[in-house]
Amino acid sequence: MPRPFVLLVFVLIAAIGCGSFISSTAAYNKPASSTDGKSKKPENNDADRRILYDKMSAVTGIPWYRLAAIDQYERTITIANPKKRERSAPVVSIVVEPPQWAGMLNPDMSDNNPKSIRLFNGIGRDGSGDNRAERNNDFDLLYSVATFIGSYGVQEEDFANGLWNYYQNSRAVQRIRQFAKIYERFDQLNLKDRAFPLPIQSIYSYRSTFGMGRHYGGYRIHEGTDIFARHGVPVRSTCYGVVEIKGWNRYGGWRIGIRDTDNLYHYYAHLSGFQKDLKEGDIVSPGQVIGWVGSSGYGKPGTQGKFPPHLHFGIYRDRGLIEYAFDPYPSLKQWESTDHRKLRKNKKSS
Ligand SMILES: [Zn+2]
Repeated sequence: MPRPFVLLVFVLIAAIGCGSFISSTAAYNKPASSTDGKSKKPENNDADRRILYDKMSAVTGIPWYRLAAIDQYERTITIANPKKRERSAPVVSIVVEPPQWAGMLNPDMSDNNPKSIRLFNGIGRDGSGDNRAERNNDFDLLYSVATFIGSYGVQEEDFANGLWNYYQNSRAVQRIRQFAKIYERFDQLNLKDRAFPLPIQSIYSYRSTFGMGRHYGGYRIHEGTDIFARHGVPVRSTCYGVVEIKGWNRYGGWRIGIRDTDNLYHYYAHLSGFQKDLKEGDIVSPGQVIGWVGSSGYGKPGTQGKFPPHLHFGIYRDRGLIEYAFDPYPSLKQWESTDHRKLRKNKKSS
C-alpha cells in the first residue's frame, strides 16, 4: 500500500471514531439539569414532577393530574416489582419496553430517530425538542405516552379508553382514574399525611396479630390488626384516597376499602355502620369519619355480635395483577404517635 493511502485510511478511521464518540456523548446531554440522571436529588421530588406535568399539560392539552396519575401508577408498580422493572428516566417512572417504543418490526431496538420510529409504528416521540426520541428522557417518555393516550380524545371517557388501549388491563385503568380523581381534588402531589383510624383520645387497645391463625370460613391467616374499642367509636380514614368498596362481606361484615395514591388498599371491617352520604368513588382525607366500630360479620348480611366489637384494619399492596397484605402494625404505631404529637401541639397553641 502506498504511504499517502495508509495515512488517509488512518485519518478516516480516526474521524469516524471521533464522530461516533461525539454523538454518543451528546446523547447523554439532557436538555434540563433537573432531569440529569446523575443528579443527587431525592426520588419522588414532587416539585420537579409537578413542573414536568404542567409543561407537558400545556403541550398536550391533557390535565396535569391525569399525567401525574399515569406516572404515579407506574411508580407504584415499580416499587412493588423492583426486580422486574428498572427505572428508566430520572423523574418519570413510566417504563416503555423497546419493541413498543421503537416499533415491533424495527430492526433497531435502540432506535431514537423519531422518523424511523414512526415508520415502524413505535410510540416513541421527541418531547424535548432535540430531534431524538429517547426512552430514558423524561420529556420524551411522558410526551410519547401522553400523545398515545391523548389520541383517543380529551373527555373523561376518552381518557379511560386511551388508558385501556395502552395498558390492556382494567385494573391499571381503574387505578389511574382513581389517582387522577384524588390529585384533581386536592390539586397537589404531596398527599403523604396519615391518621390513626380511631380518634386517639378514645379508649382502644391493639397489639401485633398479623399472620396468626383464625378459623371462621376455613383456615386463613389474620391479614391485619384488630383494634378493640367500644361499639360506636368513630372510624376514620387513615389516608387521602378514594372509596373503592363499601358494603357487606361475609367475613368482614360492614366493611369499607379506601385506595391511596401509593396504590395501597386500606381495609376497615366489622363496622356497625357507615357515615351516611359516603359512597363508592368518594374522595376522603386522613381523619375523616367513615363509620363506627362494631361487631358485624361472620355470616349473612346484618350478622353481628359473634365476637367482641373491634376494628379490623388491613393494608394491601397492588402489584399489578395481584394484591398482597402486609403487616399494618408498624404504620399504625407511627400514625398514632404523629396524632399524639399533633394533639399536644394543638393543646399548647389553644
Ligand atoms: Zn381482624
